[in-house]
Amino acid sequence: MRLSDYDVNKPYTTTLVSSERITPVNWEAEVRHLVLRLPNAPFEYVEGQSIGVLVPGPHEFGNAHHLRLYSIANPRGGDDGRGDTISICVRRCFSIDEISGERYPGRASNFLCDANPGDPVQITGPYGNAFEIPISNDLNLLMVGTGTGIAPFRAFVKRIYQRHGQWKGKVRLFYGAKSGVEMLYLNDLRQDLALYYDQASFKAFEAISSRPHYDAPPDLDRAIVENGAEIWEMVQDPKTMVYVAGLRNAAQKFEAGMEQLAGSPEAWEAAKAALIAEQRYAELLYD
Ligand SMILES: Cc1cc2nc3c(=O)[nH]c(=O)nc-3n(C[C@H](O)[C@H](O)[C@H](O)COP(=O)(O)OP(=O)(O)OC[C@H]3O[C@@H](n4cnc5c(N)ncnc54)[C@H](O)[C@@H]3O)c2cc1C
Repeated sequence: MRLSDYDVNKPYTTTLVSSERITPVNWEAEVRHLVLRLPNAPFEYVEGQSIGVLVPGPHEFGNAHHLRLYSIANPRGGDDGRGDTISICVRRCFSIDEISGERYPGRASNFLCDANPGDPVQITGPYGNAFEIPISNDLNLLMVGTGTGIAPFRAFVKRIYQRHGQWKGKVRLFYGAKSGVEMLYLNDLRQDLALYYDQASFKAFEAISSRPHYDAPPDLDRAIVENGAEIWEMVQDPKTMVYVAGLRNAAQKFEAGMEQLAGSPEAWEAAKAALIAEQRYAELLYD
């Protein structure tokens, strides 16, 4: 779906409650965990959905608005369970002009990363339902996220263990980042996902880039191949759901790893088509 297809006719004004940097200040990549207050929101949201953020104008090229989407990073009810907040995880983005090499700040992400507690933030949505938490707690969940693609899985994992206490199926999170300090919610600054390490069903696998300073995507393919036996067994088990989220080009490493496990690109293509047909595969990828 194109951004212009999203319904933005009923924007809703939230207030920024807090903005916490979750990558170190001396590290180039800035990612923030933002909490927005929703007083008397006319909507409810669930894990796996996204919200739209409308940046205040004026806008270039006569555009009526600048809309960007952000995955909801908390389970329904909010991080504090009180039901009147929503959290998002935002990376400060820049575009690089291919000819001049000049760097231009992305409007939405810089607006959000620069906002201060108390500032209004107009949102739309919630949209989509890429990842639905299965009702049955004996299903296996294979989650693959890169960069800010961890956001929906943070919501997912919190919801699973809040609601079900002990999830009976296997929960496996493969998480790729450029470096250890960019492991969002799993670094020295925030350890939200590590809270679930003592759950017998939960295991997280980290994949970091072997060349973090060359903009190389995380080595997800290596992590996939290293854990190939379990992953391939899970993929073939009708009780396994597969979810992939994050930047499209980083997710290609997931594809490369799965092609190796399957034996060839064609074999993975066929296996993936079967997963989709069986409604056991969902992805939330962006450029
Ligand atoms: C369904 C969906 C969910 C999304 N969820 C999130 C989310 O949870 N957190 C988040 O930060 N972004 C998320 N995005 C991306 C987000 O919508 C914006 O594209 C991003 O914030 C850049 O917008 P901008 O206006 O600042 O800059 P733009 O000028 O639109 O983009 C600037 C540059 O940033 C790159 N870029 C976009 N997103 C990222 C990213 N996450 N990491 C690294 N580079 C990026 C673009 O490719 C582009 O080169 C999501 C996108 C979609 C479609």
